[in-house]
Amino acid sequence: MKLKISFEDIKDAIESTSFEQHHFIDKTKNEIVFISEHKEDYENKLEEVDHNNFIGIPARTTDDDFQIMRSFIYKIKDLSLAQKFDDVLNRKKPFRNFRKMINQYPELRERWFEHYDKEIINDTMNWLCISDIDIEDKNFMPNIEIKELEPYEVKIPEEFEGFGSIACMKCNTQDGFKTRYFELNVSNENMLIDKEIKRIMKTKYNVENYGHLSGGKKEILTVSECPKCKSGKIFEGIKYEG
Ligand SMILES: [Zn+2]
Repeated sequence: MKLKISFEDIKDAIESTSFEQHHFIDKTKNEIVFISEHKEDYENKLEEVDHNNFIGIPARTTDDDFQIMRSFIYKIKDLSLAQKFDDVLNRKKPFRNFRKMINQYPELRERWFEHYDKEIINDTMNWLCISDIDIEDKNFMPNIEIKELEPYEVKIPEEFEGFGSIACMKCNTQDGFKTRYFELNVSNENMLIDKEIKRIMKTKYNVENYGHLSGGKKEILTVSECPKCKSGKIFEGIKYEG
């Protein structure tokens, strides 16, 4: 369904909806309705939006926010500092203590806000995708570029050394595959980006099956074809020698 609501408004609602603070999208008016259980008469208001014209925005749980803190810790390069933060999360009152601790490291604090914002953006984009909502103003979408690489340009990330086609899923052919490589200018961190990558690969290159290599400077898509049956459904993995 197409809606004329700004991405920022939906993102704000995704970020602030709880089990007591509700947000609904009014599909006919293209606006967001806010209902707080701290206000009188909220039960009647909730009844009014119990209707097909409204879509409820899911409540954020403390666990959702806990996971964001956790994923942030994985990004701290200083291991002893990461350990300190990890300890905080394993003790009582993790949210309060995390906040206290992050305030002691201004540079990290800056990165924490960026990380949190990015995660909320991804949650919002995932929710839009799952709910099949198409926002008219596409400014929030990154400009996705996919370009095919010449063989000499391909830089496979170290942890994927030896990666390649192993077997055709249709006829079980095990060698002679031809592989093409494509470079992405974004990382496919949410379902909407993933969907758009799929669309571009189909329309621009007529490819429906591809593998994904992340971990290098840029993400790489691999496209292989079976030399025997021409199927594009190829099982890929690390090929061990000997
Ligand atoms: Zn085959």
